[in-house]
Amino acid sequence: SDRSDLVVVYHRQPYEEVELEDGTTEMRENKSPNGIVPTLKGVMGQMGKGAWVAWKHADDPAHPDFERVVEIDDSYGQYKVSRLPLTPEQVSSFYHVTSKEAFWPILHGFKERYNYDPVDWPTFREVNWAFAEAAANEVSDTGVVWVHDYNLWLVPGYLRQLKPDVKIAFFHHTPFPSADMFNVLPWREEIVRSLLACDSVGFHIPRYAQNFASVAHSLTRARTVTDEYTADTMTPRGAALSERFTPKVMEWRGRRIAIEVNPVGANSDYLSEIADTPEVDEKVAAIREWVGDAQMVLSVSRTDYTKGNIEQLEAFERLMARRPELHGKVRLMMVSVGANRAMTAYEEVQQRIEELTGRINGTYGSFEWQPVSLISSAIPLVELVAYYRAADVASITPLADGLNLVAAEYVLAKGAGGTGALILSEFAGCAVLLNGAIPVNPFSHASMDRALDQALAMDDQEKNARMAELRKSARLWNISAWRESTTRHFRELRRGPEERE
Ligand code: UDP
Repeated sequence: SDRSDLVVVYHRQPYEEVELEDGTTEMRENKSPNGIVPTLKGVMGQMGKGAWVAWKHADDPAHPDFERVVEIDDSYGQYKVSRLPLTPEQVSSFYHVTSKEAFWPILHGFKERYNYDPVDWPTFREVNWAFAEAAANEVSDTGVVWVHDYNLWLVPGYLRQLKPDVKIAFFHHTPFPSADMFNVLPWREEIVRSLLACDSVGFHIPRYAQNFASVAHSLTRARTVTDEYTADTMTPRGAALSERFTPKVMEWRGRRIAIEVNPVGANSDYLSEIADTPEVDEKVAAIREWVGDAQMVLSVSRTDYTKGNIEQLEAFERLMARRPELHGKVRLMMVSVGANRAMTAYEEVQQRIEELTGRINGTYGSFEWQPVSLISSAIPLVELVAYYRAADVASITPLADGLNLVAAEYVLAKGAGGTGALILSEFAGCAVLLNGAIPVNPFSHASMDRALDQALAMDDQEKNARMAELRKSARLWNISAWRESTTRHFRELRRGPEERE
């Protein structure tokens, strides 16, 4: 049959679409094997014939000016891509408004940024229904549909109506908040019921799974029937208890739902491979020459109020004011990548970052020395690894972050001989996976100041010892581990509980 055993439902298409001069478009494989799309394709390649459902702009969805379904054959194997024609208005409503203005702030704990008024719920339902229908058309009778992230929250419930026996897995790439936060969403019960229609719901870290189980129980009485004791590796100084019971299986209306904790890792092989080339060596040397005998503090993220860039610049400004002896002796290199499509909330953050950078440089800079360098456009990973390797300190201070891969990439790019300090927010998901970082609470000035002081004063012996620990934990948690356990889990789902080992 033409049906697929694994259907990935992810809103973006799994290749770069390039418009050629003659007006035709070409589907190009992603240049880098790093990032979420290649990661999902890696799993698809392990599971027989795969399919992918994504959306594509169409002015008239009834008569799209492109083929709905295309066959792709690239280095990940052969797979089909089913492309949903959505109007610009639908995309704006379901993605930029409902997902980014209503869901995103709640997922990350920013109640005051939550924007209810512009949400058009019928459009959100309609778009999610279209994704569910497309997935139902592609999946084989014994196949798995793998749905990704909050902008497709209603897909599992619809798919269960269309295909009662198909296996449905959902993965959250963001944090999952506690009930106090999640219940702000007026559609909370509809969302949770849809997720409970899954056979499996996945998260990066135990805390998010715990939050989901308690939210689901409070809204639907779904019960946790199996749990297990989990201990996080990093113990933040008293900020939060990190050892507790984590749900494994929930039960609702006679069905069982596996709760999976499986953090997506960085591509460690690829990172070591590209970090260890003559080109990168050259670039590292050039950066070091530019830095001179100062210490370089590196910060890398998207421009987003969740990422803590403003808080970090404020801490750096306080450092300059507190410790004049460091003038000329330290440089902050901030890579803060703006989104393609401007949204007011992100534009405001970007503006504030630029203001603070200007103010710090204007107040403390000199002809020879500029305290802060700001890069606002994306840097290709091969170049980024040179910055990772050149940095004395990486400072990663999100106020909330599902996981944060940059922290792991920094550690992995350093390689066996490399060293450096890592300042890591307790509120990044990976804080419970990486041992050896300097933990920081970005909501506390005292904590931010202390972390910077500690990182800048750290001697080589301590840096090496901590980096060795960081490396060990970052290697355990990498993309091939994620791919293997995900593939194993899907095989188990397809076999059914009675045949499990
Ligand atoms: N990244 C990049 N170039 C940049 C900045 C970031 O390629 O200039 C990549 C970075 O290597 C990482 C990803 O973007 O793989 C960011 O992932 P992360 O989990 O840290 O944050 P997210 O943006 O998904 O919230």
